[in-house]
Amino acid sequence: MSWTARNLTDIPGIAHGFLGIDDALPANAFYCNQKHTADIVDSGAAAEACGDRVGDGVFTQEHTPVAVMTADCLPVLIASTDGQHVAAVHGGWKGLKAGILGNALARFDQAQVARDRLRIAIGPSIKPCCYEVSADFRALWPGANPPWYRERPAPTHPNALPQPPAMNPDGLWFDLAGYGVRLLTQQGIDSAQVEVVDICTCCHTHALGSYRRRTHWPTTRTQQFSWIARV
Ligand SMILES: [Zn+2]
Repeated sequence: MSWTARNLTDIPGIAHGFLGIDDALPANAFYCNQKHTADIVDSGAAAEACGDRVGDGVFTQEHTPVAVMTADCLPVLIASTDGQHVAAVHGGWKGLKAGILGNALARFDQAQVARDRLRIAIGPSIKPCCYEVSADFRALWPGANPPWYRERPAPTHPNALPQPPAMNPDGLWFDLAGYGVRLLTQQGIDSAQVEVVDICTCCHTHALGSYRRRTHWPTTRTQQFSWIARV
């Protein structure tokens, strides 16, 4: 089972997929050794073999598919509307906070792609229905309008799996995708350029892996790929 985003499907010359845990990545795809950094790697310039170069996003102007692995974090796929430039970004809260989305957009700037010519899709990720964070986490997010809810939200899509029990009476329910969209709009991206797949990795289907689900149900597998390519 895999998912796609309409805003990327609509771009001629682009193929992409947000894969489920059992789906095969295109054989020649390039991805990095992800470490929750804010680093974007150029697939064509990387001397290391696929999986060896440290980084959390891959940009390319070539035809090699680029990919990221995620379990609950955001898989962010970006393409220019002329179909000439693509990127795949792994967005956990650490990498997002460290600026990985801004770094990805800057790489498109370097390639002379105007920001209004970008289309961005965020694939299945953990949603606030399942992403409880501790009250201590709050100190990491100074400022108004924090990206979390005090009341546990209902799943945005019907869930087939049990949801993790609430662990903390002071817990907050973090909106990772909402945070990603906010960061993009702060970088000059119109929200209409961004599509968010409305699927929670934790509670929607066993076809998706989830670290959070594994925390509560240890037999759960984790990690799926998302990829994008010029074709
Ligand atoms: Zn959920």
